[in-house]
Amino acid sequence: MKTFLCCVFIPAFLALLAGCYTNPVTGRQYAVLVPVETERALGEQSFSEVKRTEKVSTNPILNARVNTVGRRIAAAIGTDIPTAQWEFVVFESKELNAFALPGGKVGVYSGLLDLAESDSELAIVMGHEIGHVVARHGGKRMTEGIATAAVGLVGAEVIDRKYGQNERDTFLLAYGGISTLGFVLPHSRNDESEADQMGLYYAAKAGYDPRAAITFWQRMTAAKTGPKLPAILSSHPSDEQRIANLKVMVPNFIPLYEQAAKAREAQ
Ligand SMILES: [Zn+2]
Repeated sequence: MKTFLCCVFIPAFLALLAGCYTNPVTGRQYAVLVPVETERALGEQSFSEVKRTEKVSTNPILNARVNTVGRRIAAAIGTDIPTAQWEFVVFESKELNAFALPGGKVGVYSGLLDLAESDSELAIVMGHEIGHVVARHGGKRMTEGIATAAVGLVGAEVIDRKYGQNERDTFLLAYGGISTLGFVLPHSRNDESEADQMGLYYAAKAGYDPRAAITFWQRMTAAKTGPKLPAILSSHPSDEQRIANLKVMVPNFIPLYEQAAKAREAQ
C-alpha cells in the first residue's frame, strides 16, 4: 500500500494539479494529465492506421468539398490547436460519421457527405469533431480513466486489508458500475454538449450558418436506424435533447456568423 501511494497515487495527484487545462472557447477547466505532445503522437499514429485499413476516396469533388470547409474551420481555430498539421481525408463508406484526432487529422465518411446537404451542415459536424480535439477531450478521458482506476485500486486495497478477497471483488464490481454510470458517462455527455457549442462557434467564425446544426441533426435523427440505447447508458445526449439544446445555443452565434459572412463578402 505504501509503495502504491508513493509510486502511483501521489505522483498522479500532483500531475493532476499541474495538468489543468482551460478550454479556450468555453472557459471550462479540467485536468488533462496526458502531455499535448503525446496526444499529437497518438493522433497521428491512429490516423495512419485508419488510412491503412479503410478505403481512402480519390473522388476530386468530395475531397475538394471537405478540404474547402476544413481549411476555413482550421483558419477559425488558429492557435487553439498550436501543433496542428492539418490533413483532411475522405473515406469511402456509408457510415454517417466524421472524426478528428489531435495534431489536426480529420476524416469524413462519404455517407456523411451525402447526408450533409449544405457546406454549413458539413462545417457544423467538422467543427464539432475538431472541437473535441481543441477541448482535449481524449486526454481528459484518459486522465479520468487514470484517476478512476487509482481511486478504485486504493479503495480495493483498503477493503482487502480490512475484510477479505470476496468483499474486495464485490467492491470492485460495484465500483466499476458506479464509476461508469455515475462518473465517466455523464462527464462525456457534458463533453458532447461542449463540442456542440464549440462546433457552432468555429463554424460561425468561419462564415457558416450555425442554424444548419438544427436541420442537420433533424435529418441525422431521421436517417439513423437500429436500436437506440436508453439515454442513461449512452455517452451521447438523446437526439431530441441535443436538438432542443442546439435550438437554445444557436441564436448566440448568429451575430458572429453575420459578421464573418460580411467580412468574407468584402474580401
Ligand atoms: Zn462528439
